[in-house]
Amino acid sequence: MSVRVRFAPSPTGNVHIGNIRAAIFNWLFARHEGGRFLLRIEDTDRERSTGEAIRTLLDCMAWLGLDYDEEPVYQSRQTARHLAVAGELVRRGLAYRDAKGGGGPCTVFRMPGEGRLEYSDLVKGVIRKKAEDTRDFVIVRSDGTPVFHLANVVDDIDMGITHIIRGDDHVENTFKHIELFKAVGAPVPHYAHLPMIVNSRGKPYSKRDGAAFVGEFKEQGFLPQTLFNFLALLGWAPGDDREVMTRDELAAAFTLDRCKSSAARFDLKKLVWMNGEYIRRTPRGQYAEIFASRLRDAGLLRPGFPQETLDGIIDQMQVRTKFYSEIPA
Ligand code: GLU
Repeated sequence: MSVRVRFAPSPTGNVHIGNIRAAIFNWLFARHEGGRFLLRIEDTDRERSTGEAIRTLLDCMAWLGLDYDEEPVYQSRQTARHLAVAGELVRRGLAYRDAKGGGGPCTVFRMPGEGRLEYSDLVKGVIRKKAEDTRDFVIVRSDGTPVFHLANVVDDIDMGITHIIRGDDHVENTFKHIELFKAVGAPVPHYAHLPMIVNSRGKPYSKRDGAAFVGEFKEQGFLPQTLFNFLALLGWAPGDDREVMTRDELAAAFTLDRCKSSAARFDLKKLVWMNGEYIRRTPRGQYAEIFASRLRDAGLLRPGFPQETLDGIIDQMQVRTKFYSEIPA
């Protein structure tokens, strides 16, 4: 069976590095396996998922070179299908209508009442829960809108997703999702839940810790290949001592069994070092071009400036530059 994975973000206008790291891992896995990497935009929150937020998301993906293999799926366009599945589950007695809350009835999915629920996560190992500790849950709200769990699972079924690689904030949801896959009669995909990205104190990395969104790193002068490489190493390692790796090298080495289950610490010093490495490895001609054009723009490169002197400066500078913005412009 060929691998089909997806990145399924809910666009909010900013793309957090934790989210894009999930996209990178999915992309690398698909490329390693010769499978397909798909994009599903979970745009059911009409207030946050504006056209602008979706454009920001697509721009970030393009900047990082995260190309996808089929047309993106917009979740908000699949509502009729989500509701049809819910209706079918009711008809088969696997879900029921509950009119308690006033308004129209909501639709509730029945979880198993007894026994043990478990799944084998490709990163975290076996995860278990007693059925008694789970509750039936709403899949269609009383206003007739599908809930995340239903939409997410039905779309994964329709897209033929084989492996779900996502942040470990979804570990608990997965118990619900697996029961939904089974109820619909679809094969349960493999799961790989990625460890959280944390700050130096071990707390979830947030915007209070510094740049947290892809756009901010771009503005600060990080190169896309730096951010891609750096994020690929947050929760995964090639198993040898390589750190600076091209996308192709990363894809060749990427397997899920090398993903780590412990939290991944965000190390800004390493990110800055890596940017310098990418600048150092830039073909000299390209660096020289950027260097000279910035100097020219700044009026610092007078006509007739001796080429030899300039070459000497460029050689000295290329090995030191961490950001192109360090070159006067
Ligand atoms: N939209 C959800 C999120 O961004 C999708 C999670 C998933 O990958 O299934 O958290």
